[in-house]
Amino acid sequence: MLPTRRILVTGGAGFIGSTVVRHLVGRGYEVVNLDKLTYAASLDSLRSIADSPAYRFFQADICDRQAVDRIFKDESPDAIMHLAAETHVDRSIDSPAPFVDTNIIGTFNLLDAALEYWRALDGHKRASFRFLHVSTDEVFGALGMKDAPFTELSPYAPSSPYSASKASSDHLVRAWWMTYGLPVVLTNCSNNYGPFQFPEKLIPLAILNAIEGRDVPIYGAGENVRDWLYVDDHARALELAMTSGEIGQSYNVGGRAERSNLTIVETICKILDRLRPRSGRSSYRGQIRFVPDRPGHDLRYAMEPAKIERELGWSASETLESGLEKTVAWYLENEWWWRPVREQKYAGERLGTAR
Ligand code: NAD
Repeated sequence: MLPTRRILVTGGAGFIGSTVVRHLVGRGYEVVNLDKLTYAASLDSLRSIADSPAYRFFQADICDRQAVDRIFKDESPDAIMHLAAETHVDRSIDSPAPFVDTNIIGTFNLLDAALEYWRALDGHKRASFRFLHVSTDEVFGALGMKDAPFTELSPYAPSSPYSASKASSDHLVRAWWMTYGLPVVLTNCSNNYGPFQFPEKLIPLAILNAIEGRDVPIYGAGENVRDWLYVDDHARALELAMTSGEIGQSYNVGGRAERSNLTIVETICKILDRLRPRSGRSSYRGQIRFVPDRPGHDLRYAMEPAKIERELGWSASETLESGLEKTVAWYLENEWWWRPVREQKYAGERLGTAR
């Protein structure tokens, strides 16, 4: 039997990170979670595994080299899954500095620390070590409505400070493989959705604004198209990429579920009309409001996931409809999680729309 693998997850208190942590603990891994606990983090998302002997949490900044070195030394991980990032495009437009700090400098810091750590390993531990870098479809820029989806070979053309900072981090990760031989694997995924997503992003924002009787804002005419990926499907893809991905390669992860923002919001309204009808029975669609578009708003992203399907045997198990149904039901049933997030951390900020 193989020894239990200990995985260092950065950003494990965020939306995807916490899903990955719960997934890995459920699969029998030991997990060390390194997270700065920014506004986007919630330790409540980890309540179900917080007391597990297979889980440890360190509050630390990936830009803090001493803290990162100490965690490597004390925890001796077998692999890293790097998810820590500033992630909200609107925030990157208002205030790009934290995006440069965390996404670029922080990734550099982690790579440099990982390289030093990896070079000192020996035997099987050195050979099997992996640095999995989690990135986004947004590094490829925007597609026209008739363009073929992005492949792993699509040129990088980021549009926002967020996507430019993620593109920079991808280049650094590749360079640490090409130059120093650090065994990296990259993934670029499409828009994730599902339980525990911070309610500034489109899907939870639409659900919660709708049930609280607020306007449900949509940028422009709602024509922007995204390729939606259920977060649990993504967590499975990341485990596979870490265990079976080819070193130095990148894998696109997408749900084969392209929809316009308007379709997404209308589908949510339809599900809510059924699961929690408004008094008077009129549809939640009546709360939809179109708001002026944001600058640099990419028209369309779409991922071609054929490589990870073919080479690693992954495929999305949720359709957009089944995933949205689960997600809406989860938000309706888990007010304990989102109510404090929405009231305390989000107080005074605009209830804008996202991605
Ligand atoms: P998130 O914003 O929900 O969580 C990010 C986490 O990183 C938070 O817990 C935060 O506290 C932590 N963090 C931020 N700065 C840090 C720092 N300096 N040091 C340590 N921790 C820090 O993000 P998410 O949606 O879960 O995204 C995770 C990763 O996946 C990111 O790298 C993101 O770029 C990528 N991604 C996300 C999506 C999506 O749809 N959510 C799509 C494509 C790619």
